[in-house]
Amino acid sequence: MATEPEVPTEESSPASLRERLIRMNLPDLVHGGGHAPDFRETRADYIRRRIRPLALLLAIGLPLWLPLEFFLLDTPDALLTMILRLTGAGAGLVLWWSCRQDTGYRGTLWRLALLLAIPMTLYAMARFIINSDLESALASGYAFFPALTVAALAIFPLTLREGAFGSVVILAAYMAIEAAMGNLGRWDTLGNLWLLVLVAGVAVWAALSQLHMLLRLYRQATRDPLTGLFNRGALARRVRSQLEVGGGADAGLCVLLFDLDWFKRINDTHGHRAGDRVLEHFAALLQDELCDGGTPGRWGGEEFLAVLPYGDLERARALAERIRARLGAEPVDLFPADSLTVTASVGVACRQGDESLDALVQRADDALYAAKTAGRDCVRSAPVPT
Ligand code: GH3
Ligand code: MG
Ligand code: MG
Repeated sequence: MATEPEVPTEESSPASLRERLIRMNLPDLVHGGGHAPDFRETRADYIRRRIRPLALLLAIGLPLWLPLEFFLLDTPDALLTMILRLTGAGAGLVLWWSCRQDTGYRGTLWRLALLLAIPMTLYAMARFIINSDLESALASGYAFFPALTVAALAIFPLTLREGAFGSVVILAAYMAIEAAMGNLGRWDTLGNLWLLVLVAGVAVWAALSQLHMLLRLYRQATRDPLTGLFNRGALARRVRSQLEVGGGADAGLCVLLFDLDWFKRINDTHGHRAGDRVLEHFAALLQDELCDGGTPGRWGGEEFLAVLPYGDLERARALAERIRARLGAEPVDLFPADSLTVTASVGVACRQGDESLDALVQRADDALYAAKTAGRDCVRSAPVPT
């Protein structure tokens, strides 16, 4: 039985702190610009599903208070509040209805803005129509609306930018309403504003925590933990959705299927951790070579798939050849002061017509088999099906 050389663990490696910071992905929490398209859609869907019950709550809850206001207010005021409450309830109902199916990223954020605008509009109504200080029994219920609106942000997985923008708009609306009432200099207004800022801080933090959790779950479900590349399922989903949305049936596409040579022997001779190190090394090399376009993924144990966004077989073959040559020329550093030269066999296939991803990968697999039987450490391309 071979003894395993000391390969540094994730904890002891000097690079691990940096890696951890990178893994936290702060930019992804600050703004959504770097989110993967399918994560953006997943998050939008998550937000939409949370808008729905809240919109329904508004649609049902707002008219419930009507009889009391109708009874207590003078007729013109009662009529106005009734119209506004029913309009708010109607908007809630429309929102609930419009969120019944996928609304896309932008559509969802607009709907969220509308959801938050409804209680703020009712608050403005209460200030201008009921025309009393919020101390009166009837109006005091409305005093909570701005705080509730800000607090509602906590329900959604929002980026720091979205949460901060929502909070600032709500606070600005509150200040504008109070300024119009001539209350801006009053101590109780300032006190309320301070409270709103605190609630906004907690709500944005809660929204960020939700986003952080969602990002983590998403990464766990889509990434290979060892190499950080897409796992097989996520890569296949991504390519399929690109084929559906992007170029459609005839979109050009090539795949490179890599299989490390004699990998079992590496594990047996140098240990499993050294094998893992080789996989990480190859994944980093693949990512580096594909940084100008193309998506790499871990397809299986020591098999990797690179999806290229073009259908030019010669170009794909040249890239496969370059990666194969580079792998053979750059020994993998093991610890301590030990290195290992690794080779890979590659199968290349380019999409024909409306060929499915499965059929395309199957042809690349056949080409890979040809590379293995030709002696390994070489590239073979799949013949065009007749
Ligand atoms: P060939 O040149 O024909 O591809 O031979 P091979 O030894 O590379 O292929 P084989 O399929 O016999 O062995 C693949 C090995 O990969 C077996 C498995 O233990 C190892 N393996 C799979 N996943 C991992 C992993 O995550 N880490 C490590 N260290 N080894 C892995
Ligand atoms: Mg294999
Ligand atoms: Mg192999």
